[in-house]
Amino acid sequence: TSKKEFSAQEVIYRAQKLLSASLEKYAIQVCTDIQNNFIRYGHSNEIVQVLINIMNNAKEAFLTHEIKERKIEITAFLQNGVPVITLQNNAGCIDETVIDKIFDPYFTTKESSSGLGLYMSKMIIEKNSATIRVENSNDGVIFTIIF
Ligand code: ADP
Ligand code: MG
Repeated sequence: TSKKEFSAQEVIYRAQKLLSASLEKYAIQVCTDIQNNFIRYGHSNEIVQVLINIMNNAKEAFLTHEIKERKIEITAFLQNGVPVITLQNNAGCIDETVIDKIFDPYFTTKESSSGLGLYMSKMIIEKNSATIRVENSNDGVIFTIIF
């Protein structure tokens, strides 16, 4: 696909729609908050794929233990004038001893998984002139894509 203009809302909506059946199956609620519907130029399909990778990881994290309300919150806003999308879940934190490794190729904590999802996501994000970072919140993980 070629480069084109896309909005924050468009990529978030497309990712959500593509995953809606599997998220509903596990009673995972997705809340989107488009505070600023910024426009970017690039490969929107690739950005959609990254959002899907992050949401799939959240889904897998929810399945490892019991949580009352499974929630993924996706927010688009301007942070000091810089467009960002954050994806936050309440599936529990990443161990501080491994959080710096999760973007490494083949790093996984799962039984049989490639460990390539976030590595490839980071490659895609950087190819699109953006950056991605992760941090723990009180009850889960926040991924921030800075455009
Ligand atoms: P994989 O999903 O194949 O393990 P990824 O590159 O997608 O590989 O993720 C790497 C690792 O990062 C996961 O194995 C998991 O330990 C951790 N991780 C990623 N997202 C989350 C999340 N939302 N909650 C908890 N851990 C996560
Ligand atoms: Mg993964």
